[in-house]
Parts: sequence; structure tokens; C-alpha cells
Amino acid sequence: MQVYKFGGASIKNIEGIKNVTQIIQSYGTKNLLVVVSAMDKTTDRLQELAFAHINGDENQHQLLENIKAFHFDIIGKLFPDTKNPVYNDVSNTFVEIEWLLEEDAEDSADYLYDQIVSIGELVSSKIIAAYLNQQGTFAIWQDARNYIQTDNNYREANVQWDKTTQAIQKQLPNYLEQGIVLTQGFIGATSENFTSTLGREGSDYSAAIFSAALDAEKMTIWKDVPGVLNADPKWFDETEKIPQLSYHDAIELTYYGATVIHPKTIKPVQNKSIPLYVRSFIHPEEKGTEISSEATTIPIPSFIFKVNQVLLSISPKDFSFIIEENLSHIFAILHKNKVKVNTMLNSAISFSVSVDEDDSKIERLINDLSADFKVKYNKNMELVTIRYYNQQTIDRVTTDKKVWLEVKSRNTCQMVMKNRD
Ligand code: ASP
Ligand code: MG
Repeated sequence: MQVYKFGGASIKNIEGIKNVTQIIQSYGTKNLLVVVSAMDKTTDRLQELAFAHINGDENQHQLLENIKAFHFDIIGKLFPDTKNPVYNDVSNTFVEIEWLLEEDAEDSADYLYDQIVSIGELVSSKIIAAYLNQQGTFAIWQDARNYIQTDNNYREANVQWDKTTQAIQKQLPNYLEQGIVLTQGFIGATSENFTSTLGREGSDYSAAIFSAALDAEKMTIWKDVPGVLNADPKWFDETEKIPQLSYHDAIELTYYGATVIHPKTIKPVQNKSIPLYVRSFIHPEEKGTEISSEATTIPIPSFIFKVNQVLLSISPKDFSFIIEENLSHIFAILHKNKVKVNTMLNSAISFSVSVDEDDSKIERLINDLSADFKVKYNKNMELVTIRYYNQQTIDRVTTDKKVWLEVKSRNTCQMVMKNRD
């Protein structure tokens, strides 16, 4: 059996849904598990709704109406027969949010967020399953919350692997024998049966969890790009597709910030040696990128850009050296403030880190650090990571830039830089 994952961009309108249906149908009529995200930017819109509810804003009902209208417009175009059960099914799903909005937001914000934001995937998967059935392909809709079991760390829930694997192995092979199984990415359930989510862009990870538990023959992520590229087309005019990539390189690239796949996706499939394909839903006839343990030819250099970086330089107030004790103190403060370090370097008397610019977080961080350290910072920095670098690639990205910090390992070079004035 195989697992396909379709993201929001592939199902953003009726043409998209029809295209995805064709890709599924050309696979066959059974032994395929399809994981879908919410349609288009629905999760962003639901997030806005969740925050409006949490803050008690007036516009929450209007925001929900807009989300409903977007989905019912698509349903109206796909299902001419208004008696199709999808109409009721989707309405009932939205009713759950309506009930929630009627109450004051007394529960924890993260809990409320997950109850609201998870609706996007429930609705998109219902629409696609219904459309496949209307087109004569037997599709079985399954609620991912019956399978993906998590702790209650809402918005970034951790998967409980044993329970999850057992639930998947017990139920799904049966359904897969009968037809195409359609389920949701991104969402799971806690042991008390509340909905949880796995973190933004987490549908890839869901697909990997299902693939690993089912020992899938392959997993394919269908994207709007031809595969894994050596740079984000947002930054480079000339990008190249990487035809083959090792799991190790894929983990490194996503860890440093390549957004093509969610970073948590690789490990579960690597553990089971399941090859992972990244392919274009626009050109499904093309091969895309294969990520596997196969020995690869020397990989081409890849570039990962992160803008809006703050470079912090931290030195002990008592002029002591940066030693283990200071470092562990600094890391404890970073961890407490949930600040993720994108790159770091230490010298005898100072420790430098590049972190994402998030004003309120950074202010709190600097406050906490200031008790024992002198902190200097520089905003508006760029961080570029080059995997398989050489001098030529370094020159290419540093033209007109001043490099403030450079960290090199055998295969990876990271530079924190700023435009020259
Ligand atoms: N719909 C969720 C999001 O946009 C999950 C995903 O797309 O992977 O974050
Ligand atoms: Mg999405």
C-alpha cells in the first residue's frame, strides 16, 4: 500500500480538487491512504477566528461565516445534487464551532485554538471523499483522531507512538483492502478525546506516521513545485531540482529551514526505510525527488534563507569566560522563553546566537539574560545556510553583504549577514 499527502495549495479550488481526484484515481481503487490538509489558506483563517474568539472580538461570527461561504461555494459547484450527504455532513462539522463560539472563552487558549483550527482538515477530507464517491471511486472517510493519539500539549502535540501504531494497524488494513481511505493531516486526539494538532504544516508528519505504522511501500507528498529544489524560488531565479536525496540530507535541509517538507516527517519513514517522494501535482507525470537511503551522487549545493533574524551577542557581566556553566544558564533562559536558536558560535568571552525576530519574545529574553549578562543585539539580519558549500557558492550569496558571523562544518556553512550600507 502507499500513502499520498496533498497540501492546501493542491485543493484550493474546484479545479484543484478535480486534479487531485484524477491523481488518486490513476493510482487505482484500493490500498491507498490519502492524507489531506485544509483547503487553501483555511488554517490561517481559522487561526484568525480562534484568536478572535479567545479575545472575545465582535467579528468572530463574521469570520466563521466567510470560512463557511468559501467551502459551501465549492460544495455547490462540485455536487449538483443538493441531497448529497456532504451538505449535511459539512454543516454539522461547522455547527461544532458555532457551539463553541457561543460560550465564553474560558478554557486554555491553546486548547480552544486546536478545537477550532482542526475543522479545516475535517471539512476538506469530507468534501474530497464525497467527490471521489460521486465520481465512482469508492472512498472511505476516516477520522484521524481515532488513530493519531497524542498528549495534551495543544498546538504542538506529541504523538504517542505505541497507541497510535496499534490503532492504525488494527483498523486501517481492513479498510484499505476495500477502497481508497481518506483522512486528515495535522490533527489527533488526546487520551480524553479532545482534538489536538501537531503544529503548523504538520500534515506531512501525519502522513509519515501513517506510512510508518502501515509499513507503506512508498509515501508521496504532492506539491506545487517539481520536487525538492536546491533553493526557494522566492530567493533565487535559477533553482535546480534535486533528483535524489538521502534521508540524512533531507533532515539537514528541513532542519535548517527548507520549507518543502515538515522537518518531523523524515524520521518515521527513515526508521522503516520507506522511500519518500516529493512530486508536482501540476505535472504528475514527472518523477520529482526521491528521498531514501540509496547512495546518492554528490549532491548539488543547496541554499536556505531565513530573513528577519536577530543576532544576539551575550557576555558575562563579571567578565568570566564562556564556559559550560554559563552556557547551560544561557540555554536554560532560551528554552524558558521558547526561543529557537538558528545558529550559534562562542568565543572566550561572548556567545552569539541568531534567532527569529519576534519583538515581544526577544524583549523578554533580553530581560531575563540581563540579570547576569551583557546583551548586544542587531536586527534585520539574514541567515543563509549552504549545504555542500564551496567558495563560489559563498561568494554568490555574500555579494554586497557584510558577514557578521560565520559557522562552518565539513558540509554546511552558515552565515549571518546584512546588506552593506
Ligand atoms: N493545514 C495545516 C496548516 O496549514 C496543516 C498543513 O497544511 O500541513 O498548517
Ligand atoms: Mg496547509
